[in-house]
Amino acid sequence: FFITFEGGEGAGKSTQIRRFAQRLEAGGREVVVTREPGGSPGAEAVRHVLLSGAAEPFGPKTEAILFSAARADHVDTVIRPAVEAGKVVLCDRYMDSSRVYQGVTGNLDPAFMQGLEALAIDGMLPDLTIILDIDPRLGLTRANQRRGSDVADRFEKETLAIHRARRDAFLAIARAEPDRCAVVNASQDVERTAQGIWQAVQECLPE
Ligand code: C5P
Repeated sequence: FFITFEGGEGAGKSTQIRRFAQRLEAGGREVVVTREPGGSPGAEAVRHVLLSGAAEPFGPKTEAILFSAARADHVDTVIRPAVEAGKVVLCDRYMDSSRVYQGVTGNLDPAFMQGLEALAIDGMLPDLTIILDIDPRLGLTRANQRRGSDVADRFEKETLAIHRARRDAFLAIARAEPDRCAVVNASQDVERTAQGIWQAVQECLPE
């Protein structure tokens, strides 16, 4: 299985993925936890360019291509081989982050974004996408507690309106693709959110 986790800043994706992976492993599953941008040596190199500020000279279109290039490498070298080997792959952000961050709040042409997405994922659609939904005000409060990470500078410059637009865009994807997506309330405490994810996976994926 291939399960992706999406959501805005401070939704708790990495904490939840770690817990979910432990629970799957306790049940005897082989699990691969990975993330985007990054997740493979090539894609991590692109992540560094994208998030360190080195990508500042690039416009949004080139940036979107870089995210896609990283994704293509990640799919080819990590995700597809693991899924084909029967492992459960849990990915922190994937194509929906590009749709939302580059497409919606980056104002890029939807047809251009669709083309890029198809090239990058090359058929590797998630079996399930968990959208961790949180009010951006609460999410940003949580996210600010991890200052010093490579992403802190990026989101500090952004307005609340942008974060709200992203939340709406994730929810719109969930409404448009209800078979692939499940929305889980991430403003609850860690334990309840984890339970919400577990339930969503039981409902959406056969054993
Ligand atoms: O929240 P996370 O640790 O996944 O942060 C990664 C950062 O990379 C996000 O805050 C976002 O600014 C950026 N990103 C992006 N476009 C993507 C994926 C991530 O701008 N497709």
